[in-house]
Order: sequence, then structure tokens, then C-alpha cells
Amino acid sequence: MTDLKEFEIWLVTGSQHLYGEETLKNVGSHAEEISKSLNNSEEVPVLVVYKSVVTTPDQISKVCADANVSPVCIGVVVWMHTFSPAKMWIKGLQILTKPLAHLHTQYNAGIPWSEIDMDFMNENQSAHGGREFGFMTSRLRKNRKVIVGHWKDGQVRKQLGNWARVAAGWHVLQSTKVARIGDNMREVAVTEGDKVEAQMRFGFSVNGYGLGDLVNYVDQTSDEEVNRLVQEYADQYEMEKVVRDSPSLQDAARIELGLRALLTGGEFGAFTDTFENLHGLRQLPGLAVQRLMAEGYGFGAEGDWKTAALLRAAKVMDSGLEGGTSFMEDYTYHFTNGRSQVLGSHMLEICPSIASGKPKCEVHPLGIGGKEDPARLVFDVDSGPAINVSLVDMGNRFRLLVNEVEAVAPEHALPKLPVARVLWDPQPDLQVAAQTWILAGGAHHTVFSKAIDTSFMEDLTDMAGVELVVIDRETVTRSFRDQLRSNEVYYHLFQNQM
Ligand code: MN
Repeated sequence: MTDLKEFEIWLVTGSQHLYGEETLKNVGSHAEEISKSLNNSEEVPVLVVYKSVVTTPDQISKVCADANVSPVCIGVVVWMHTFSPAKMWIKGLQILTKPLAHLHTQYNAGIPWSEIDMDFMNENQSAHGGREFGFMTSRLRKNRKVIVGHWKDGQVRKQLGNWARVAAGWHVLQSTKVARIGDNMREVAVTEGDKVEAQMRFGFSVNGYGLGDLVNYVDQTSDEEVNRLVQEYADQYEMEKVVRDSPSLQDAARIELGLRALLTGGEFGAFTDTFENLHGLRQLPGLAVQRLMAEGYGFGAEGDWKTAALLRAAKVMDSGLEGGTSFMEDYTYHFTNGRSQVLGSHMLEICPSIASGKPKCEVHPLGIGGKEDPARLVFDVDSGPAINVSLVDMGNRFRLLVNEVEAVAPEHALPKLPVARVLWDPQPDLQVAAQTWILAGGAHHTVFSKAIDTSFMEDLTDMAGVELVVIDRETVTRSFRDQLRSNEVYYHLFQNQM
């Protein structure tokens, strides 16, 4: 759904006039060479655009202002090839609204021991130039990513590329419209929150739509379109003949066509529904939601607009990566004497991007909501590292909570469980993971991803200026609780500066 090559990051190189024309010319050609090389590297998925070397406050402010208004520039990467006195950067950094990365690299990898002279020293000053810039950025209390290492190093490129992926997700989030169809599941707390504050903080907007708006679209679909889509299902998924011929599958196709028309017509990037409010639909949208997620739409069940928006951003970030990302819910525990596990699933709505092999399309009763039997894709998930992420509204701020987990390939068949599911072993273990997750107020709904890791969420919270709390193999409950308490104070002070 998202082509990351639509987006640009700008490489802006800082210097000053003291070095003379010859050095500045070299600085410029080095920066251009680095831009081109990063642009052609497979780790960086967006376009890298070379911008002329800046040596004055006006040039710096100008390039920052240009970045702000460019519809395709998603972030600015700054590099100090030489020393660039950083009072020149104050104005530019103050007005810059796009994400900022500081690439702390130098043109040459090693020191040319037998050749090095004072001309070389004048031209290659990243080691101290980057520190001058770093002071000013910190003095301005400006969030940014700092990436250290040689620009040809794969790890450096990967960090920059992943940061660019997050910047793309952040950029898309600024204009993401979330359709909240049928409002919230009654009495549920964690899926609620301050939509005005969310829009101020993250950019996305959430607006409510009645079921009638969706039903209108569903009713307008033709039998021909429905038959064509049912055939597509039969081609893409494993399916028994009784499912292929069932009226339920026809209804599911009609719902998909209607939902797709509503989302396209309103230019929505994410949506929610709730099983308690399905007036005019014959079944809970299952298959439709799964397929739309696989195309890059964000989704949250039971009115969960925060998870829907977060999933949309994650879908932009993981474009082209292996592993997949899905809406998820901690469903059932497997307590054992060894490492206990969690079975994650939902009533229906798990994204097939995380599926191991070809999903099966099945129709079964739902047992909740009082509607007809819905169609859904059923599959397992391969083993491998993954994250669960929850966006929580704490009342005075948003908190992004991450738990690093290890997906575990199923050791047992689940012949009577007709939903997509994934088993995972949370870090550091289930006891501490669930304890700290609950202390942090994390939701039961999450974004589950095998494609992106915690560093993506670190960059995202930096861009948004919101709290990040991570539960990983190092987590100890007592210090985790202390961290939550210190954050309460920090974010209280920090928010007042915004
Ligand atoms: Mn749920």
C-alpha cells in the first residue's frame, strides 16, 4: 500500500567559511558521494537527497524551512564534516518540525598514518564538529536520532534506513484518518482516550461513523463483484467446497467490498468496528478486516482507535520487510513448570501477513454478538523474535509500551480452535512480563510485529515526544516500577514545556 520511494530524507552537511573554498568544495563532493551511496544502498528504503553544504545561519534556517513545507521530505539527516559553530544552528533547529537524525560519521574510515597532515586534519573534523552540534541540539532539548559509525558500514545504514522507515510512518500518521465505525465496546476503558490530545500529539484524526454508512456501501455491491471476490478467495486460500459455496462467504465478500468502498471513499488509513454494534450486517467482519490489514490498513477491534492508528504507522514502517505485523490480543496463558507462554489471537481479526504458509478460509459460529457465522482465515505463525506494542492514554500523557517476545512454533495441533493464533514466550519470562505490563497499564490489544523491533518504537516515541517503556530480557519489576514513577515526574515537567 505504501511505496517508500515516494519519500525523501535530506542530507544536510554543516561547515563554516574559515576553511576556504578548496576545503568546502571537497566537503560538498564528499557529502554528495555519501548521499548517492546511501541512496543506492538496500538498507535505506527512501530517497536520500543531497543538499548543498550550509555555512551560515540563513542557509541553515532556509533548508529547515524548506524541509518543513516539502510534502515528500520526511526527515532531515545532519552531518558535520567539519566544525560548524552551532549557534548558527539555533534558528534552524528551533523551526524544524520534521524528524531529525544526526549522522555522526566521517568521510574516511581509517586514519592515513603516513600521509596525515594539517590539511587533512582541517578537512576531517567530524569527531569534534559532531560534538559541537550535539551540544546545541541537547541544549535546545530537541529529540533526534544519533547514529555513529562509518557511512559504508551495514549497521550504520540499517540504523539510518530503519529511522527513515519510522519517519515515513510518522509522516503518514500526520494525515491518517481513522474511521471509528460503531464506536466503542460498552464499558471498556482501555480502548477509550483523548482523541483531541492524540491528534495534537500524533497527527491522526479519529471520527465516528454509523453502521448505516457502512451498510449503504455493502448494499450497493453487485452479485457480479461478490462472485469475482469469492473466486479470488478460492484462489488465494485453502478452502473446502462447503465453504466455497456457503452464503456466509458471499456475505463476507459483500462486507469486504462495502468496507473497502467506505475506506477508499473517505481516504481512511485505519478503522475500527465493534461486535456489539453491527446493525444491518449479517456477520462480524472477519475475513474483510484480515485482508484489509494485509494491504496496510490499520485496524482495532471494539472501537480501539489507538491500536488502529499505531498499526497503520507500523504497516508503513514495515513495507517490504519480512515477518508481518498484526492486530493482536493476549488471549490465554499456558502456565508450565518451565517457561510459561501466551496464546495470542482475537475473535477473528489477525492479519495474514504473519501467517506461516497458506491460510485456510473457514466458516464457524462466533459464540458472541448474536450474528450469523462469519468467514475467517485460520493459520499459525512461525517462530522468531517479535514485539507486542500498546499505546496507552494515561490521562496526562500517552505511553507506548513494548514487550519483546519470542514467537514459538506450535507444538500441538489445535483442531477445534477456528481462529488465527500465535504462541509466544515473553521476555524476560511470563511472570515478570505480565506483572510489569499490568503495572504499566498496558492494554489487552496490541500491535504484534515480527518485521520491526523495539528500536523502531524508540524512534517513533522520540519523534512524537511521548513516553516509551520497554519490557525486555533485562527487566526487573522493582526498577521497572521506579522507572514508571520517575517518568510520571519527567513527563509532567516535559509536557509543560511543549
Ligand atoms: Mn478484543
